[in-house]
Amino acid sequence: MSRDEFRQYGKETVDYIVDYLENIQKRRVVPAIEPGYLKDLIPSEAPNAPESFESVMEDFEKLIMPGITHWQHPRFHAYFPAGNSFPSIIADMLSDAIGCVGFSWAACPAMTELELIMLDWFGKMIGLPKEFLPLTENGKGGGVIQSSASECNFVTLLAARFEVMKELRARFPFVEEGLLLSKLIAYCSKEAHSSVEKACMIGMVKLRILETDSKFRLRGDTLRNAIQEDRNLGLIPFFVSTTLGTTSCCSFDVLSEIGPICKENELWLHVDAAYSGSAFICPEFRPLMNGIEYAMSFNTNPNKWLLINFDCSTMWFVFKFIVGPPKWSIALC
Ligand SMILES: *Cc1c(COP(=O)(O)O)cnc(C)c1O
Repeated sequence: MSRDEFRQYGKETVDYIVDYLENIQKRRVVPAIEPGYLKDLIPSEAPNAPESFESVMEDFEKLIMPGITHWQHPRFHAYFPAGNSFPSIIADMLSDAIGCVGFSWAACPAMTELELIMLDWFGKMIGLPKEFLPLTENGKGGGVIQSSASECNFVTLLAARFEVMKELRARFPFVEEGLLLSKLIAYCSKEAHSSVEKACMIGMVKLRILETDSKFRLRGDTLRNAIQEDRNLGLIPFFVSTTLGTTSCCSFDVLSEIGPICKENELWLHVDAAYSGSAFICPEFRPLMNGIEYAMSFNTNPNKWLLINFDCSTMWFVFKFIVGPPKWSIALC
């Protein structure tokens, strides 16, 4: 594609986008196709010769659109909301144009710095404790953008596992790592997102899924009893993943009860607020996050409620205490 063609087709694509979004309600929300539909409509080999832009767009409308679930449709009520907006689309275009890989400050200074500043802005907007916000509040932690909340849950679990294993290795230098790992146990409630269970599965740690109360909230006593029982079995509780705004019913685990128990027992407290964390912009909802000062990590998805298109999952960490000195008296055999 030449530069002039790009100029023309780019503008045509913007027109296509506007038409699509303006008329989206005329389409079916969910496609009327069977699994595997596309294989029969598309050649089995990549073409040798290029096709015109017009014919590609024709295929897009005829072959791809019929297989799209329209998350932006006004009658789409499945899973969870997916934000989108014109400014967000334009931002994606600019980011595509720059096309850089910002894995370190030097790899793209503006990208790294803008990310940190925006995470500070947003963290302040939702009332995160200042420890999470290093730039504007002299905090000890910081924020970073991930692709999805599932990834946040996984990364957090790995970080917590790393911290506790470091401590255990120092304390039991002659014990095989696999044995130490086999003693670790994490907690969440049965209303937690499925990605917590998946994270523990891939992270190779045990997970105990706890009961909730009549309002679908994880309570402190439930956690305290579970920790005690598991300690008695020789296990090492190290991580709790709580949810503020569960995906299925928007219930809120009681952080103000759970937080002190995590502190007392030196457990890493994670708060997954992917679904409704953005609501904390409104001061009237802030009491639901009482106890957040005990959290070591927090994530929420601007791509759910804040008109930002997928993917944009924001996550903050703060290192408040290093796990240990240990209270563990475990039988390592
Ligand atoms: C939506 C949601 C997730 C998963 O979000 P993805 O970004 O799609 O991985 C995780 N936890 C909670 C509480 C959610 O609502």
